[in-house]
Amino acid sequence: MNIYVLMKRTFDTEERISISGGQISEDGAEFIINPYDEYAIEEAIQARDAHGGEVTVITIGNDESEKQLRTALAMGADKAVLINTEDDVENGDQFTTAKILAEYLKDKEVDLILAGNVAIDGGSGQVGPRVAEQLDIPYITTITKLDIDGDKVTVVRDVEGDSEVIETTLPLLVTAQQGLNEPRYPSLPGIMKAKKKPLDEIEIDDIDLDEDDVEAKTKTIEIFLPPKKEAGKVLEGELDDQVKELVKLLHTEAKVV
Ligand SMILES: Cc1cc2nc3c(=O)[nH]c(=O)nc-3n(C[C@H](O)[C@H](O)[C@H](O)COP(=O)(O)OP(=O)(O)OC[C@H]3O[C@@H](n4cnc5c(N)ncnc54)[C@H](O)[C@@H]3O)c2cc1C
Repeated sequence: MNIYVLMKRTFDTEERISISGGQISEDGAEFIINPYDEYAIEEAIQARDAHGGEVTVITIGNDESEKQLRTALAMGADKAVLINTEDDVENGDQFTTAKILAEYLKDKEVDLILAGNVAIDGGSGQVGPRVAEQLDIPYITTITKLDIDGDKVTVVRDVEGDSEVIETTLPLLVTAQQGLNEPRYPSLPGIMKAKKKPLDEIEIDDIDLDEDDVEAKTKTIEIFLPPKKEAGKVLEGELDDQVKELVKLLHTEAKVV
């Protein structure tokens, strides 16, 4: 079975975001595999172990993305592909990302594609479904269980806390939701093996695309942080006085009554 995982390199969730020159600053930030993509990688490895075949992890990124790809290889993926867009594409959006991924995948023999439900930075949840649409294969989002039996696939998906069971067939794209599995940590032997596993680096002209083909369809006008939270006020004195003061403040400061 040919299994592909779409993996995004994202900011570490522990990072404090800062903005400089209208862009999110990457200076000194730590980067990780998008957490939902860890579920996708784990599920891909389990599906390969149960049904045979191989797992290829693909990312669109830059030279720095090799680190996260090596981590995926250390977890147990067989191959990695870095589509390095650093020199060719300056501003991209979900259209850009999906177009490049679909163009890469379109002439591969694909049985199963796993993506994250959402990237914790961009957060649009668009890339997986867009790739499936372009490849003209079915997709199911936010899955929490995946059973494959020959060509038949049974999936449980999370619908805002409820579960939906869907039957479909391969080839298929699914997006991983929290709870799908418990992603493994790379083991020391896994890390050693990963150094020798194939990691292909290509650029968009290797898949017959140029900058104009992947030009973003959207434009980010402004990026800003939420306003700083003011310190809370603690009222003191007799209870009656506190209540009067609270009502006054709700009227004059908070302007909610
Ligand atoms: C060449 C290029 C230039 C870019 N330039 C800018 C920029 O200037 N400013 C800016 O703010 N953003 C930029 N981006 C990022 C881009 O706008 C989005 O972050 C990206 O399209 C994914 O959307 P999302 O974060 O909403 O992901 P979602 O759709 O929420 O991600 C869902 C899933 O899709 C898959 N996926 C997402 N991104 C990738 C990826 N890169 N590689 C492999 N799989 C992926 C993962 O499985 C992920 O879990 C650029 C992206 C590219 C490819």
